Amino acid sequence: MTEIQENIQKIIAEIPSHVQLVAVSKTHPNQAIIEALEINQFHFGENKVQELTQKAESLPKKIFWHMIGHLQSNKVKYIVDFVHLVHGVDKEKLLKEIDKRADQNHKKVNILLQMHIAKEDTKFGFDTTEIRALLDSDLANKYPNVIVKGLMGMATFTENKLQIAAEFKELHKIFEQYKTYYPNFDTLSMGMSNDYKIAIDEGSNLIRVGSNIFGNRNYN
Ligand SMILES: *Cc1c(COP(=O)(O)O)cnc(C)c1O
Repeated sequence: MTEIQENIQKIIAEIPSHVQLVAVSKTHPNQAIIEALEINQFHFGENKVQELTQKAESLPKKIFWHMIGHLQSNKVKYIVDFVHLVHGVDKEKLLKEIDKRADQNHKKVNILLQMHIAKEDTKFGFDTTEIRALLDSDLANKYPNVIVKGLMGMATFTENKLQIAAEFKELHKIFEQYKTYYPNFDTLSMGMSNDYKIAIDEGSNLIRVGSNIFGNRNYN
């Protein structure tokens, strides 16, 4: 068993079975993904459209690809055809573009709305007021080719576990409130290498883990 495979098994063994692990493979080579696939890890996350499309073309079609990064409207067309779930929908304009491209491709596209829960201004997403207004606006009718599966958020990068927990709690609360109105709401994407345990305690059912599986990223 390789190190990557051991890391995945260790995480799978410690998380509850209702929590889905998305292995964040950004910056890592195809070989790393193949090792993970060998032990039946089928869900992978990427945050750049170009890297995502290149990997999707060259790797087995049985992979479920998650677009977890910031997505620009003009790049939607490159991924609608194959993407499994778009996590970072942070503008209504993006929702509109995904709906249009999905329609053209005769597809339904699964998305998560991203909420800005961190006390940092570097992270994308709707604030509470915006996300409530959007969710109250009958999205299913406005964007019939988009399936709103739930919400996604990133906590502040801090050692303060209470703060992280409070941020995740806020997102979980909104998720629970709107679940009643959105029949397809089943995914709450929160938690990364440093905070996925807290996220699960706070109601996450999808974690996005990179470094704890593949090691440190080299951006050169
Ligand atoms: C890179 C990234 C992750 C994974 O981060 P790690 O700390 O390496 O686990 C998760 N979510 C998003 C949105 C990311 O961009």
